[in-house]
Amino acid sequence: MNGIPSKMMFTLLFALVMVFGVVAEVYAYGWTGAKQCHYYYVKFRWGGNISNNHKTNFSAALKNWNNAQNKRHFVGDNNASGVLDSYYSSTQGYYGTTTWTPATGCIDAWASKMNKYYYATSDPFSGQGVGGHELGHALGLGHTNYWVLMNPGREIYNDVWTPQPDDIKGVNNLY
Ligand SMILES: [Zn+2]
Repeated sequence: MNGIPSKMMFTLLFALVMVFGVVAEVYAYGWTGAKQCHYYYVKFRWGGNISNNHKTNFSAALKNWNNAQNKRHFVGDNNASGVLDSYYSSTQGYYGTTTWTPATGCIDAWASKMNKYYYATSDPFSGQGVGGHELGHALGLGHTNYWVLMNPGREIYNDVWTPQPDDIKGVNNLY
């Protein structure tokens, strides 16, 4: 009878499980459908409402992203269409927000903002985490349930405040 010996079959099945296991891990991150299309530099300016705490938090988060990957590099420019700012909302429930236009494709303008309601007296690590999460959106990353920067859960930023391997893979595979 022709057929694959059972031992070899087991090895093949095991190999398939391994391949799919790895693939599932590689694609844990998500994308928004929009991305920065200008080569390498992502220019930003400070908005008119930025608080000192948020400026410190964003500055650390910018450095973290710039050190984590080589595809895109945030750089300050007073004429930039990208804005980093603060806002205040006691009812909205978000630590921060990022908006961009157009919704999909190449981003023309974007704004990442941190909510003063939660970070009026910000501790440096969770503030960095929120800033880094918002900058991840500006780069084109969407949300994920994994324990990484792009998880939207509030408590996570006390433990995770720098781009994790999965966040970095998301950027490296997008650009
Ligand atoms: Zn988010």
